[in-house]
Parts: sequence; C-alpha cells; structure tokens
Amino acid sequence: MYPRIVVDSVKLSQNASCIFNRCKKAGIKVFSVTKSFCAHPDVTEIILKSGIEGVADSRIQNLKKLKDFNVEKCLLRLPMMSEIEEVVKYSDISLNSEKATLKALNEEAKKQNKIHQVILMVDLGDLREGILPKDVDEYVDFIESLDAVLLQGLGVNLTCYGAVIPTAENLGELCDLANQIESKLNRPLKWISGGNSSSYYLLDKGLMPSKINQLRIGESIVLGRETAYGEKIEGTHEDVFTFEAQIVELKIKGSLPKGEIGMDAFGQVPSYEDRGEIKRAILAVGQQDVDAKSLRPIDEKIDILGSSSDHMILDVTQSDHDYQVGDVVQFKVEYGSLLSLFTSEYIEKVIKNL
Ligand SMILES: *Cc1c(COP(=O)(O)O)cnc(C)c1O
Repeated sequence: MYPRIVVDSVKLSQNASCIFNRCKKAGIKVFSVTKSFCAHPDVTEIILKSGIEGVADSRIQNLKKLKDFNVEKCLLRLPMMSEIEEVVKYSDISLNSEKATLKALNEEAKKQNKIHQVILMVDLGDLREGILPKDVDEYVDFIESLDAVLLQGLGVNLTCYGAVIPTAENLGELCDLANQIESKLNRPLKWISGGNSSSYYLLDKGLMPSKINQLRIGESIVLGRETAYGEKIEGTHEDVFTFEAQIVELKIKGSLPKGEIGMDAFGQVPSYEDRGEIKRAILAVGQQDVDAKSLRPIDEKIDILGSSSDHMILDVTQSDHDYQVGDVVQFKVEYGSLLSLFTSEYIEKVIKNL
C-alpha cells in the first residue's frame, strides 16, 4: 500500500553501531531518542541490537509502546502534571526542572512502590527547559529531601530553541556544576547528560569534556548527521528512510490557475510562477501527512509545486523518466518529514532487509 515510508534496517543498524561505538570509545553511553519515528517498536529494536542500552522519548505514550523492552527508558520532555502516574509507570528516568512536578513524582513513586530517577536540567543559554545555574543548590537540596525520587544526574539541552551550539565551555560549565553537586552530596552522579545530536561533533574534534558520560541521540542515528553544523557523520547513511507515494493523475496543464484567486486550502493567498504548459503529476498524499517542503524528490528533475490536505502536485516536465499514472515517486526525508510521516496513521510503515 502507498503512501509508505520504507526503513532500510541494514543502514539503520550501521548508523546505530557507528554512533554507539564512537561514543563508547569516549566513555559515553547513548540514549537512543525514538521520537522521530514515534518509537515504532520494530525500528527501535533494530537500533537496540547495536548495543545501545537506553531509549529516550519526549512522549510517554511512545515509551509505553516500548514497555516490554528490557532497556532503561527516559522521558525527555518535562512531565505534565496530568501524566505523573504514567511517567512513573513507563519511564525509569525523567528530565525535570520544577519542584511541583518533582513533588508529584515523589508522591506517585511512593504509591507505585518505586524509586523514580531524575536528571535535573540546567539552562546554559538555549532558553528552553532547565533551571538557572544559580539555583542548582536549592534544587539539589529539594530533590534530596524527597525519598522516592533519586537525583541521578545533571543535563543540558542546546541547539533546540536558541540554536546555541554546544562547546567545551558551556558543557564544561555543566561539568563544573556536576562537580559542585557531587562534593555537596558526597556521591558521584550517574549521568552527566551533555545534550543531543548537536553535541556529537565535539567527539571528533576532541573537545568533549571527559566528565560528560551520556548523550541523548536521535537525528544522528536516523539521518546520519550531526546537528550543530549539519555535517554528515562518516560511516553513517543519510538515506535510511525513503518516502514513497503514488501518482493518481498525470496531465499536461497550464501552470497558472484560471479565474479569480482567493485563498488556498489553508487560508493563504498563493502566488504562482508561469512555466507555460507543464506535465503535472498528482500524488495521493497531502499536507495532513507531511509538509511538502520538507521532502526531497530522489529524481532531482522533479519540482514540488505544492500540496493541499490530501494531494501533492509535482512538475515532472523536466524529468528523464516518462511518469505514468500508478508510478511511485520516491523522496528523501528530513527530520520534520520523518516525524510527521511516522505520526500519520495513513502512511504505511515498511521495514526492508529485516
Ligand atoms: C529531541 C530531544 C533530544 C534528541 O535530539 P536529536 O537532535 O534528535 O538528537 C535530546 N534531548 C531532548 C531533551 C530532546 O527533546
């Protein structure tokens, strides 16, 4: 069935092994971030075969899908007050920055007879989640006063909102704060969590502070790319995933709509380029499934003209291939398209070379 997203299990497994081994050499444990593929269990299993021992996801529903996997599970997004019960039930560790939430986790963990582990997040400039460095002592004291919540680590997230790049300096600051906590508590913290795929490049540059012992890696595994500078990672594949959709109409038509122009399907007033008569293909996939702008046709002579909820329109005039109704057009995906294609229940998920 089409439309579908095809996962090359061999390439994915090579990506996971490459990242895992590189991090292992630096004494870093990888938590494989599964949110870009909605923690699809078969895809997760391929990654875990590389030896990666932990999974992390921003949504508790995704970790729930992985409840039968015997690996450590970490919730990445700060827990909502309305999901505390599930958080304690389906994740071993969560990232936190709020006392009210920590208190609720503590109460719930007691109820479930569990110790819930916590990584305290510090904001080192990206201005998304995390406490300010000056408040570290206060938060550490607070968490230590809870008996069913265990402070297991300190973490930072960068390059997400503020696009701040991880460096030896800002990650060094995280390590200094961790040292400060460790001497205060008189015990080592298990995890010094140095960020996401944007921290990976520091390994190859030899700039990763040695105290960092965990990274939460999504994009580098699935798309073979570090995200500080967007460079390809040697030894990985960028084309683990291929998106395929089928042509339902193919006709020569003009390139300018005829008639008075109002709003398109999404309330925008569109503008059009006059290319004269062109060969237009309509694919049976739409904006409900994926943003056409984050797809790249593998046939580079195809142009994506636009899409409405359920139709994507291509200009195939320049292509060397004589497309017909029923033909399948393939695309490379980016992070955004991967995320939405896996989220759409109308997209078939196919795993190749299992
Ligand atoms: C999404 C996310 C990650 C993984 O990011 P990638 O860039 O895909 O590696 C890590 N940490 C947190 C807190 C996240 O939300």
